[in-house]
Amino acid sequence: MTQPYPARQQPGWDIAPIARDWAGLPAIEGDLTADACVVGLGGSGLAAVEELLDRGLSVIGVDAGRVAAGAAGRNGGFLIGGPAMPLSTPTPNWTDQAKADLWSVTLAELDHLSTLLGPRIVHRCPWLNIAGPIADTEQATGQAELAALQTESAALRAIGLQVDPWTGPLGNGIAIAGQARVNPAERVLTTAAALIERGAELYEHSPVSRAADGVVSTPSGTITAKIIIVAVDGRLDQLFPQLPVTTYRLQMLSTGPLGRRVLPDAVVSAREGYEWLQQDDAGRLLLGGGRDHQLVAERTSNAEPSAEVQQWIEGVAAAVIDGPFEVTHRWAASVGYTEDERPLCVPIDQTVMAVGGYSGHGNLVGAVNARAAVRHLLDGAAVPDWANSTPA
Ligand SMILES: Cc1cc2nc3c(=O)[nH]c(=O)nc-3n(C[C@H](O)[C@H](O)[C@H](O)COP(=O)(O)OP(=O)(O)OC[C@H]3O[C@@H](n4cnc5c(N)ncnc54)[C@H](O)[C@@H]3O)c2cc1C
Repeated sequence: MTQPYPARQQPGWDIAPIARDWAGLPAIEGDLTADACVVGLGGSGLAAVEELLDRGLSVIGVDAGRVAAGAAGRNGGFLIGGPAMPLSTPTPNWTDQAKADLWSVTLAELDHLSTLLGPRIVHRCPWLNIAGPIADTEQATGQAELAALQTESAALRAIGLQVDPWTGPLGNGIAIAGQARVNPAERVLTTAAALIERGAELYEHSPVSRAADGVVSTPSGTITAKIIIVAVDGRLDQLFPQLPVTTYRLQMLSTGPLGRRVLPDAVVSAREGYEWLQQDDAGRLLLGGGRDHQLVAERTSNAEPSAEVQQWIEGVAAAVIDGPFEVTHRWAASVGYTEDERPLCVPIDQTVMAVGGYSGHGNLVGAVNARAAVRHLLDGAAVPDWANSTPA
């Protein structure tokens, strides 16, 4: 039985013990100095912290809220490789090589995360990409998408991935092997705890109002550093309005445990990524999407769930579950989109790099992009072709 809107407005992922029991980190107090400072402690910012610690540097990290307060702790938990758009679709400003390179580095990042966090947290599984709406038994609208997915299969196999056709009650599509599902809050909080152990100084509840010329400013103190990485994705336009990034809201809900499997052990997307789902080890369905049904309303930095999109997601849940269910959590978060879906890795000045604009696909891309920003500032390495580095 479904509950009337609104239900509990909290990420369903926060049932993980590390999220539930997170004691919190202090806010910045006074003026601090370190070799490097990272603003934004989601998956991207923490990858930067790790990269900087690996170089033997002292690092301060700072977040406006809790670690993983943003999309990093509220997303679909897909750890899938590659860019936001298909390999086989010609895309402005992207070369085939740049897309293939991004597949390669994101899959290497996934292997790294698997080693670091272990198989309980990073659960390796295929990515099932379904043509047309999920569980659309008539399959009337998915034919063109299915043909596109078959073309995509060939392109993915050409770069070494294992891709198989898939048919089942969810529809027709393809299964891309070697991806993963995760509780994203657990991924990020566990990573933060490990980085603190390694000596990173992390602060929460310290919103940054300015990052420039080697100084990061918060209401209760400043951080002076030679290297500053700003990794705030869905809030990038607030700190750097000159950057070509637009903030959208994405929404999800979670059911209670269903007591039976309604999805294969996979991360499942449908309708070109406008619907996404996974069923966790407790048997809960966690799903989201529907931004395309409310494109104007969802172009917002408001990160509260809305009745319209929540009702739409609930309809998808009903189609998949085909029986009674309870909605336990509803939530939303902000993400940065770019026009050509290339992530931004942009020098702001000699000390500051801004990263973000993952177009709803930043769990792995964000991490490799933040590492690229560190290498640019520290080694003068060129920003990879898969990112937009045009100076702001
Ligand atoms: C509902 C939803 C589902 C998604 N599903 C997936 C998925 O399955 N797979 C995938 O790859 N991607 C997915 N995404 C996108 C993905 O979550 C983001 O691309 C990714 O989290 C970006 O990581 P990040 O660390 O760059 O930014 P965020 O995760 O947004 O983290 C930025 C951090 O910066 C902090 N911050 C913001 N402003 C300031 C400030 N002024 N001062 C200090 N700190 C600040 C925030 O509090 C936040 O903790 C989804 C997003 C949403 C919202």
